[in-house]
Amino acid sequence: MENHRGKGLSFAKRIYRPRIIGLGIGGISVFAALYPLSMPHWIWALLLFHGLIWPHLAYQLSSRSTFPYQAERRNVLYDSLLGGFWAASMQFNPLPAVTILSMMAMNNVAAGGLRLFLRGSLAQGVGVLLSWALLGANFSNQINPWQIYACLPMLILYPLAVGMVCYQLAITLSKHKRALSALSRTDSLTGLLNHGSWKDLLHIKFHKCQQQQIEASIALIDIDHFKAINDTYGHIIGDAVLRHLSSELRRNLRHDDLAGRYGGDEFCVILPRMSHQQAADIMERLRQVFNQYQHPDVSELKVSLSIGLAAFDTGFKDPASWLNAADKALYLAKNSGRNRIASNGGKAHVSRTQPV
Ligand code: GH3
Ligand code: MG
Repeated sequence: MENHRGKGLSFAKRIYRPRIIGLGIGGISVFAALYPLSMPHWIWALLLFHGLIWPHLAYQLSSRSTFPYQAERRNVLYDSLLGGFWAASMQFNPLPAVTILSMMAMNNVAAGGLRLFLRGSLAQGVGVLLSWALLGANFSNQINPWQIYACLPMLILYPLAVGMVCYQLAITLSKHKRALSALSRTDSLTGLLNHGSWKDLLHIKFHKCQQQQIEASIALIDIDHFKAINDTYGHIIGDAVLRHLSSELRRNLRHDDLAGRYGGDEFCVILPRMSHQQAADIMERLRQVFNQYQHPDVSELKVSLSIGLAAFDTGFKDPASWLNAADKALYLAKNSGRNRIASNGGKAHVSRTQPV
């Protein structure tokens, strides 16, 4: 409900300024077309109201409404009805009548597509009938130079105003699209890449390594006894540990290393353009700094990491084989005591064991 109201309000706001411009300058061309005809006083009062007061009243009506979107669409139809009324009242004087009707059609298409255009045309028809009923049905093709000049501001400025609104809308949409796409690639708890997008990047890096013979390693990082941390201290503390690991990953990795959350308490990293030894050194530094983590509320909490490291090998037939090698190394690190790094370098071995 709130979301719908928000959308309606932004629709009303979007239309507010073009309506002030359109009805203000449209009023000039209507005035010039009506002036030579003898019109009752109430017509001038109505023209003043429509050109100067109505845009603000319409905005108040829609923005205060419980359903601003529906209220604004009603306002657009009132605009169309009065547009038809003015076109008929000026006896379909060709230039001002076409100017007003076509600008309104453009406005309706921009605001609500073909549907609003058709409903707007119907409302214009009703406006025409209303004028004929009140003022009589007359047609005139007499046009003087002043009436032509009076249409120019509308013809020049109104399309600019509508074009500007459409452009701003397109910019906002593309910003939202980018934000949504970033959100769909991000793990919400840690802000790192999520499983799917990290794997997509693994595919890309694998093919790059294959084609360009680049050295690279991947690491699977798992928090030791994480379930026990959750069970003993609660999930809030568990989440804080996950977030801490993600911030240590950001701090200890290079800008183009790709860190993601593989799932649960397991993280994954691609370390391109570095030797296996350099990758092992970085992971060792990470293991050590993570080891020193102290939660402000739980001083007795001890954390450690097991890391499986796999260097790219031309023998891997696909990215899954590379990942599998890292998985095997992680399994080895877990099974040989945890809090350590194991790597696939040929025969898997355990390095720099540092028992808790
Ligand atoms: P090991 O030392 O063998 O790695 O054991 P472990 O307890 O770390 O691993 P296990 O796979 O048994 O448990 C992982 C736990 O992580 C289980 C699950 O409830 C918890 N978990 C998964 N996602 C989240 C999360 O987003 N937040 C928190 N707090 N816990 C999570
Ligand atoms: Mg674990």
